[in-house]
Amino acid sequence: MTQPIPALFLADSLGLDFLNSVATPVDTPIDWLEDGEGLLSWLQQARFVPDEVISSMRVRAIPGEIDRLAAQARSLREWFRAFVKEHKGHRLTAADLSELEPLNQLLKRDEGFDEIVANGNDESAAFRLLRSRRWTSPEALLLPIAESLAHLVCEEDFSHVKACEGPTCTLLFADHTRGHARRWCSMAMCGNRAKQAAHRQRLKSTRSNA
Ligand SMILES: [Zn+2]
Repeated sequence: MTQPIPALFLADSLGLDFLNSVATPVDTPIDWLEDGEGLLSWLQQARFVPDEVISSMRVRAIPGEIDRLAAQARSLREWFRAFVKEHKGHRLTAADLSELEPLNQLLKRDEGFDEIVANGNDESAAFRLLRSRRWTSPEALLLPIAESLAHLVCEEDFSHVKACEGPTCTLLFADHTRGHARRWCSMAMCGNRAKQAAHRQRLKSTRSNA
């Protein structure tokens, strides 16, 4: 099923957005990857896979194949969530590499290649190198996800990977703000809720002091 609510992309890191593909934006938990259609829709929203590849996978896949792939994506997500939960707040070290072996195994399956493509007229160089991949099987749909997780561990300073401070919120984000003072997944979802709660608390204590 495709969720009527758009997926969340607020982590400032696609690898963390992938972890945030299960969340409780209001009251009810939503898993955007709950089945094959959900996975395809999430990949499309993340712009991980070209639309025409998504359409052809839908037609070519044997029944149940993409649903099974969604189950794999969910296991990958929860395995990687454990890694992020353990390591967030500190820089990664070379010793952590062994834990990432399952991700390396997945990355090795990539049939990626570079292609020279024309640049737009306004660019200074006529061509640029575009990274593409062969989408030979539905499993290839997991590769852009693996790539985003790999970018996260290679490029992100884990000292600034944080969990939202909302009491019931499960969302993770990379804090790229100056001073690294970001506390909330978003103001709309948790920041305002916290502000209102603090305001109510102040009113209560003013009344009880009066
Ligand atoms: Zn939150």
